[in-house]
Amino acid sequence: MVLFERAPAKINLSLDVLGKREDGFHEVEMIMTTVDLADRIELYTLEKDRVEVCTDNQYVPSDERNIAYKAAALFKHKYRLYQGVRIIIQKNIPVSAGLAGGSSDAAAVLRGLNQMWSVDASLGELVELGASLGSDVPFCIHGNTAIGSGHGEKVRVLPSPPSCYVVLAKPNIGISTRHIFPKVIPEAVNHPQTEEVIHSLEEKDFGKLCSHIGNSLEDVTFALYPEVKRIKNKMLQTGVDGAVMSGSGPTVVGLASHFSKAKRVYNGLRGFCDDVHIVQLLDRR
Ligand code: ATP
Repeated sequence: MVLFERAPAKINLSLDVLGKREDGFHEVEMIMTTVDLADRIELYTLEKDRVEVCTDNQYVPSDERNIAYKAAALFKHKYRLYQGVRIIIQKNIPVSAGLAGGSSDAAAVLRGLNQMWSVDASLGELVELGASLGSDVPFCIHGNTAIGSGHGEKVRVLPSPPSCYVVLAKPNIGISTRHIFPKVIPEAVNHPQTEEVIHSLEEKDFGKLCSHIGNSLEDVTFALYPEVKRIKNKMLQTGVDGAVMSGSGPTVVGLASHFSKAKRVYNGLRGFCDDVHIVQLLDRR
């Protein structure tokens, strides 16, 4: 049997670091949505009780280090399943980009196996499983637009954003979230106005959304990788309505009300930054 799943990229409309917890994790509050840049996941049942992973990207491991492998192993263990699966991942989402590519692959595997093996686990159960794999996985299981809090495991669905075009620009570096978080001093970084972002979604007010998007991790990432800040500035100079770094970077997200504006920003970034996309929001509820 074969099953296909789409694993879309996540973008942050906000990311706030509220404080450090006793367990060493940071307490975060992040508003996320998905865009139509997606990995393609194929799941094939195997007679042997094993998990296999194949990817077409040299920076992504094809063994038990792959988060999609971990998701399948966890799912099999939790529901005592003794069947095997081959997972083929066609990577379209840039790696180590702040776009939750790996987390979205893992979420797609949990959703897909749940369907393929007729396990009938609830959304809540999948979210709980996903939380043990990574802080973005619970959101990736939900999709749409949502606010994640705690360590990312508490997810509340929000209204969809006003329609717009999204420019994604990633400089030629990879950043791991694990390297950024330890350098964050919650009292010293800028905090986005999360409540105002929520109001702008409720009111479908694009201008208000653009003026309140923000990311507490920008201060740390910009200090370590000034090219990320240059990309954000370039986007704003070339006329994007709002710009914010996604996750711990390095991808910068630009929001544009019209395609012509997004195209102007895209053209301004060509030659300045190699990996540039114009995409659309997936959440059209
Ligand atoms: P993170 O916050 O984990 O850094 P990210 O969205 O910025 O997330 P990812 O593209 O998910 O970055 O990859 C982060 C790391 O995870 C890379 O080192 C990559 O080799 C590894 N990895 C493991 N499995 C996957 C996968 N299925 N897709 C992408 N990367 C994966």
